[in-house]
This record gives sequence, C-alpha cells and structure tokens, in this order.
Amino acid sequence: MTPSTVVNELIAYGRELAASGAAQVGGTFTDIPEADRLLKESPEAFLIGVLFTQGIPAERAWAGPYLLRERLGHLDLGRLASEPEEVHAAFNTPPMLHRFKNTLPKWVSAAAIRLLDEYDGDASRVWAPGSHVVDVTERLSAFTGIGRKKAVMATEILARHFGVPLEGLDCGQVAYDVQVRRVFLRSGLSREDSVQAIEAAAREAYPEAPGTLDLPAWLIGRETCRPRVPLCDECRIGTVCPRLTWIMVEGVGS
Ligand code: SF4
Repeated sequence: MTPSTVVNELIAYGRELAASGAAQVGGTFTDIPEADRLLKESPEAFLIGVLFTQGIPAERAWAGPYLLRERLGHLDLGRLASEPEEVHAAFNTPPMLHRFKNTLPKWVSAAAIRLLDEYDGDASRVWAPGSHVVDVTERLSAFTGIGRKKAVMATEILARHFGVPLEGLDCGQVAYDVQVRRVFLRSGLSREDSVQAIEAAAREAYPEAPGTLDLPAWLIGRETCRPRVPLCDECRIGTVCPRLTWIMVEGVGS
C-alpha cells in the first residue's frame, strides 16, 4: 500500500464529486432548499456564506445567509453596510446565528462595504469568468473574515459546484482544514502537519488540479476518519490507506 494508491483513490473520488457538481455536504450545502437556492442565485449570499464557514458545522454555516435574510428582511448591501446595529441585532437574536456573535456581524458589514466600493455591489466580479485561481483566492482573502483556508475552499466550490470557468486549476489547493489534515496525515500523503507540507503533498499528489483533493479529503475526514473512532472499514480509501490512526490533529472538529 503506497501513497500513490491512496492518491489514485482520492483523485477518483474527487473526480466523481466534481462530475456530480457536489456542493460541500453531498449534493447540497444545507438541509434547507431555500437556503441552497439563495447561495446559488445570489453571489453576495455565497460570499456571506463563506464568512460563516468557521467554528460551526458546515450545514449550519451555509444556512447563515438565508437565516440572516429571514431576520433582516433583506440582504441589501447598502443596508448591510450602513446599518451595522441591525445586522448585529439579527445575529444576536436567540437562537444565535453564529457562535462568533460579535465578529460575524462586523465581517458581514465590512464585506458589504468592500463589495460596494470595489466590485460595484456585484460579488460575482470577485470571481469573474476567466479569472486565475490565484487571483480569486487573493481577492477573497482580502475580505475581513476570510483567511486562506476559507478562500481556497470557496474557490474550489466556485469551480466545482457553480461551474465558474477559472484559469490555473493547477494552482488550486486543499484547505488547511482539520478534516483534510487528519486524512492527509493518517493516509501517509503528508508526514508533516503544516500549511506548506499539506499543500505540497496535494501538489505532488495531483499537480494538474490539487484542489480536486479538497472535498474528498474533507468528506472522508468528516464521515469516516473520525478523530477517536475512525471507521476504516467503511472508508472510501480504506483498502489502500496505511491507517495511521494514532495520529491526531488539533483544531475545531478534531
Ligand atoms: S478512516 Fe482509516 S482508512 Fe480512512 S483515511 Fe482515516 S485512517 Fe485511512
């Protein structure tokens, strides 16, 4: 059992997910059809959703823009930018929209300001067709509340699920996420737990499109490569993985 067989299996899984246009959790983002539709129809809602994807389960995070709109009655960028108190109140009305109840409202208002100032109020310009993957990742990272991890993940979703034609897929990457890290380390794809090492392992594994490995690794980490009780016999790569299950990683979801 060599890492190359692990790589082949992960690539195969990634291609299947890409071919099916997978969102993040199976075919959808949330368990709420209206919330999924909003993410699809509104680039601004998708961008706000990216802000949510931190510290809470993915389904809950992606439902955030829809629930915020339900509470505010709008997702108008001008009002999100100019009415920060209302945004803050919407987040803080029980049940809380996010555990980062004070920072998320600020990030949403700051994102609205940036979109109005730099993108003419149109978030899809952040990932305009034909943009290079590296540029899209950098533009997303410029938003307060979106670090490299979230920017890399969002860029992959834009290309895979929304079919945005981006250049330079060979420069895509896996997110340095706790699930991805655990799978990379336990499967022997990487011997070191650092952003540089995990990204280098992804590049080496699949130079044509390293980001293709992001969703399969994340899903395996979430569903079978659990921190304390890994389900190796049920794992998609269980027959080829060296099963280094004693390796633990620190982080939210670990
Ligand atoms: S669950 Fe087991 S087989 Fe699957 S990636 Fe983790 S260690 Fe490997």
